[in-house]
Amino acid sequence: KRKPMVAGNWKMNGSLELVQSISSTVKNINNQDVEVVVIPPTVLLSDVIASGVVAGVQTVSEHSEGAYTGEVQASLVKSLGATYTLVGHSERRSIFGESNEDVANKFAQAQANGLTPILCVGETESQREQAQTEEVVAEQIIAVIDKLGIASLANSVIAYEPVWAIGTGKTATPEQAQAVHKFIRNLVSKYDADISETLQILYGGSVNESNSELLFAQADIDGGLIGGASLKPESFKVICESA
Ligand code: 13P
Repeated sequence: KRKPMVAGNWKMNGSLELVQSISSTVKNINNQDVEVVVIPPTVLLSDVIASGVVAGVQTVSEHSEGAYTGEVQASLVKSLGATYTLVGHSERRSIFGESNEDVANKFAQAQANGLTPILCVGETESQREQAQTEEVVAEQIIAVIDKLGIASLANSVIAYEPVWAIGTGKTATPEQAQAVHKFIRNLVSKYDADISETLQILYGGSVNESNSELLFAQADIDGGLIGGASLKPESFKVICESA
């Protein structure tokens, strides 16, 4: 059985005060099974770790070090004690122009330095309307497999986040989400059945304390990647407890 995970992606939100309130709330979570991860803006990484919470960052550089002003290298993130990094979040893809190839390079940097990448994939609303969901999601995943090999997915997490559900309050129904999660697991199983069986696949997109339980109850949904609701300690706790 796969271990459930709930990760809170703070995006460009939060504060030192929120680190303290989240950490005290997370310690009271009444669910021993779930892995809880907090993904703050990178400047708060050390504070999250010092507060005793498992932490990740929202992106890392595709370069190992050097003259890349403003970027942060995976090796430094790892040395501070982070466990995870998101790669290919839809906001990175759409606002910052990250291609599937950039995302694969970031994925490689993360793993080469001992961070577990959480590979974010998902279709836009118009892609869904044109029945391209499977094609888009497959392309995003195969870009990593082609570059790094199927074994690279053994040490990773996938987050399915339909773009139309992010920050919109329009959550995918449990059935819609499960269908794509199952598609992803089948896709990976064509390369390696064991990796497919153990791969954690998270759902993200307007998850809140009222819809998380049904989403997480689906056979191929192993937890969630939470945006807005991860900034509210009590909501985040309820979501973690439902995983
Ligand atoms: P929301 O939960 O705010 O829709 O954000 C989802 C997300 O993008 C998490 O990475």
